[in-house]
Amino acid sequence: MLHPGDYIKDIFQKPVGAEVTARGWVKTIRHSKGISFIQLNDGSGFTDLQVVVDHQTASEEALKEISTGACISVTGELVESPAQGQAVELKGNSIEVHGLADAATYKLQKKGATMEFLREIAHLRPRSNTFGAVFRVRNAASYAIHKFFQERGFAWVHTPIITASDAEGAGAMFGVTTLDLMNPPKTQEGGIDWAEDFFGKRSFLTVSGQLEGEIFAEAMSNIYTFGPTFRAENSNTPRHLAEFWMVEPEMAFCDLDDDRRVAEEFLKYIITHVMDTRMDDLEFFNKRIDDTVLSTLETVVNSDFGHITYTEAVDILEKANKSWEFPVKWGVDLQSEHERYITEEVFKKPVVVTDYPKEIKAFYMRMNDDGKTVRAMDVLVPRIGEIIGGSQREERHAVLVEKIKAMGLPLEAYWWYLELRKYGSVPHAGFGLGLERMIMYLTGMKNIRDVIPFPRTPGSAEF
Ligand code: ATP
Ligand code: MN
Repeated sequence: MLHPGDYIKDIFQKPVGAEVTARGWVKTIRHSKGISFIQLNDGSGFTDLQVVVDHQTASEEALKEISTGACISVTGELVESPAQGQAVELKGNSIEVHGLADAATYKLQKKGATMEFLREIAHLRPRSNTFGAVFRVRNAASYAIHKFFQERGFAWVHTPIITASDAEGAGAMFGVTTLDLMNPPKTQEGGIDWAEDFFGKRSFLTVSGQLEGEIFAEAMSNIYTFGPTFRAENSNTPRHLAEFWMVEPEMAFCDLDDDRRVAEEFLKYIITHVMDTRMDDLEFFNKRIDDTVLSTLETVVNSDFGHITYTEAVDILEKANKSWEFPVKWGVDLQSEHERYITEEVFKKPVVVTDYPKEIKAFYMRMNDDGKTVRAMDVLVPRIGEIIGGSQREERHAVLVEKIKAMGLPLEAYWWYLELRKYGSVPHAGFGLGLERMIMYLTGMKNIRDVIPFPRTPGSAEF
């Protein structure tokens, strides 16, 4: 049987007097005269079930073997609770112990553990209040992402993890090889002979599914990818992972204005779904992690996103009379401090910045008539800065060829990407949302390592 008991979240919905079996892991247990109190959680919701066991039902010695971390099932009757903050509790009539947990060595003890320490015990941290809440929110957001696109007729496309094309034309990719690194085959010139490698050419872990996504948008109209992506950027920041999950919709018959509107609707949809289904967890984050979580989420849902061009943004930043760590002038990429100033202090709500200088954006973004800017957009939100990056893609064959050449990229590598512009080309656009950035936004968690089950960062791939 899938789950022979009841999820604790469902037990809370049952009437007093119901006979139930609760299963889960012990958060705490304490004993008083003739009676023991257990806080039990099975991860189905934030609130622990209080279990009360009479020492006539189970011997005190047996109960004292049970400690924090033990896995048990309790069958009994749901009764009204005299304790504050809970309507019902479980009066246990029988206890089954599945696995004890040695109290002297169990690493997840009740309180005060730092986030850094919890990262070292990633096999146990999902049982803590904070991480249970994080991963329920992550699950709810993931469901909302699929629901949003499926309701709108988008097809989920599984783009490859291993790729031989470098989507952005930038470095920072992980190589994939089966060659013997101690003794690789060599070319005449003395370099490594990648033709001898598993795929017959140099291959990598993908940094984005976008280019392959475009193939499918030009066949199935509206598609999205949702899967792991990899970046070997050696940046040890609280916002970057080497392995993260990205959502990338790609839409045919779509320009940048449509793209911007989809991004806005999408963010609001995810937030609304998580608020509707996981308010228990969000209230915890608001109370214990960041007391602006709920108010910011409400602001986002209830406001129309702002919209300015990059040129207007630079103008605002130059007039801001602030001493920036990274000085601003037209042509430079906006840094986190600039993005946050615009969204947090100028607009006080999410803002979409569009039409960036072509030099600082990827080759595939559609050229504007000014010849200087491209149809790029970044969605900036308070507390995070950039959460989404997207663009309208260059659909004109000749313009794209020129662009690839001008950026010094090898034309041959993009042969199929260019063919899409020769056979049935159409204006199309899309964007990428980093799932972890979204979860940070939803939870107020400060470090991206604490919103993914098993973070991969420079120097760390434990578990
Ligand atoms: P940043 O400037 O923050 O490094 P980026 O410009 O490299 O972001 P894109 O290439 O546009 O980001 O990727 C799309 C989205 O993926 C970003 O908006 C962000 O949400 C997310 N993202 C990018 N790099 C990472 C990373 N290393 N770890 C986690 N999420 C990331
Ligand atoms: Mn980056």
